[in-house]
Amino acid sequence: MAELRRLGRNINGYFGERIDIETVVGDCAEAAQEHGWASEHIEAAPGLRLLALKRAPRESEASPRRVYISAGIHGDEPASPLAARRLLREDRWPPDVALWLCPCLNPTGFAANRRENAVGADLNREYRKPQAMEIIAHIAWLDRQPRFDLCLCLHEDWEAQGFYLYELNPDEAPSAAPAILERVSEVCPIDSSEIIEGRAARGGLIRPSIDPRSRPEWPEAFFLLTHKTALSYTLEAPSDFPLETRVAALCAGVRAALDFRHGQ
Ligand SMILES: [Zn+2]
Repeated sequence: MAELRRLGRNINGYFGERIDIETVVGDCAEAAQEHGWASEHIEAAPGLRLLALKRAPRESEASPRRVYISAGIHGDEPASPLAARRLLREDRWPPDVALWLCPCLNPTGFAANRRENAVGADLNREYRKPQAMEIIAHIAWLDRQPRFDLCLCLHEDWEAQGFYLYELNPDEAPSAAPAILERVSEVCPIDSSEIIEGRAARGGLIRPSIDPRSRPEWPEAFFLLTHKTALSYTLEAPSDFPLETRVAALCAGVRAALDFRHGQ
């Protein structure tokens, strides 16, 4: 890997590349259709729809691993929906995996290039007492889906010195985090800070020991952990690095997580 450094452009906020979210989500729907995914538009409000995609495993798989991937919940994190698009276009998935993928949960935020949605709500704090129409609709959709073996939430952080991730793994299942970090390190620096976002980190991994019930505001990952899964990773690409590096980092992290199996 060529030496990569922070650009030094994103101070006190994200000032990097923007994306046309309608085009990116349209590309996702197109790629999904081309590769045989089922696609659904979740109606959040008049004129506000969220794309939800599902891919069945190969028919020969008796007990597929169910994996949920979400992207684009913060409107100033463009690498997240771009990674979803790249993964859909590349269409390389382990054969035993069934997938649920939401490429963009905050379309109005991307239109304004800001973290929150069009009316100023941080959607990733709404999963305990949802008020935003996007999250009410998203939770209703999640409630109709089965439990997942693994959940991956794709994010970016303009303060980060490199890639890092959160692991929520209360049952202490074998951790995919080392494999994810190793794979991502081939394309993007890892944030080795000992404190990231106010939490203890080691080698780019944060394992918060938090009971979601003790927190009034839930990110999506807390909802997933409480209702849908026993294992979740939130991947954070460093948005003060080139966009291509961040997209590559998120894609590498997803691939490593999907390739990881217990006992390997
Ligand atoms: Zn985020």
